[in-house]
Amino acid sequence: MKRVFSGFRPTGKQHIGNYLGTIQNCISLQDEYDCIYCVVDIHALTTLESIESLREDIYEMVLDWLAAGIDPQKSILFVQSHVPQVMELHTLFSMVTPLSWLLRVPTFKEKVKMQPHNVNYGLVGYPVLMTADIALYKGEIVPVGEDQLPHLELAREIVRRFNSLYGFVFPEPQAKLTSFPLILGLDGIQKMSKSYNNYIEIAASPQEILERVMTAFTDPARRYRSDSGHPDICNIFCLHKFFTPARVDEIASECRRAGIGCVECKKMLAESISSTLEPFREKRAILASKPNYITEVLADGANRAEAIAKETIREVKEKMRLLQRVQLEHIRD
Ligand code: SF4
Repeated sequence: MKRVFSGFRPTGKQHIGNYLGTIQNCISLQDEYDCIYCVVDIHALTTLESIESLREDIYEMVLDWLAAGIDPQKSILFVQSHVPQVMELHTLFSMVTPLSWLLRVPTFKEKVKMQPHNVNYGLVGYPVLMTADIALYKGEIVPVGEDQLPHLELAREIVRRFNSLYGFVFPEPQAKLTSFPLILGLDGIQKMSKSYNNYIEIAASPQEILERVMTAFTDPARRYRSDSGHPDICNIFCLHKFFTPARVDEIASECRRAGIGCVECKKMLAESISSTLEPFREKRAILASKPNYITEVLADGANRAEAIAKETIREVKEKMRLLQRVQLEHIRD
């Protein structure tokens, strides 16, 4: 079985956009690949805003993932900093990575503009750490959206350079191009995201879902109940496609002939989302009530990941001619 590696920033409770995109994709990969899923808490430290809630964000995100269907028996799920060998490999990779490769990364330039007060080394070295994340576990396949392809290409270049300088250790990770559905937020303009406060959490109660859905923007042409609508440009209709698939044709034609009002349409959507996510909410509540469950899952994941990591670091040191501690005695002899 080929090995998939994927890392995710800890973003706390997950929203519908995460669920329909990343989470469902990760669940589907579990049966086909040997999957390693990592919560990249060290990467989160390159920006300052998430530090206050970092621990809680990791807990809530992992709880959502497990309740949604990530199976810790099938996949390794762990926190990046729990396997310290990644820092070691990051340092060693930094010796084979030309600075010019890192300075040309577009996301680095964007981050410099976004946080000129905090242009830390971690921002420049981000792709090196990302490469270490993948290579430490000899990840062969990395699910990415098209926008992340340049990062993966850089990871491949770093790995290739290491292999050519010191000898083969790492497979070059291949992109598994994944087209995540674009889920617009409740504002109908931006992608659903916590940064834009336009999201619905998957753990939200039916009442909270209803309240959030009722705030959503719809077709701006429907100012009165009697106006005919354009479902194709309406965000509520887009969500119906995922949560009310059996009735989308009917909703579209009722919208066009003004047979249904937006309030009614939104209530219907809120009910569909609530009922679709009900099994998730139930499982989440059960897992949350188990004392230490998340801690144990993450500890088991870290142990399994670390066993792979230790072996990789041993190979790397061997190739780089670094002296292992136990070898010192033999040299003296
Ligand atoms: Fe959108 Fe539904 Fe209103 Fe049509 S009726 S504009 S699909 S919310």
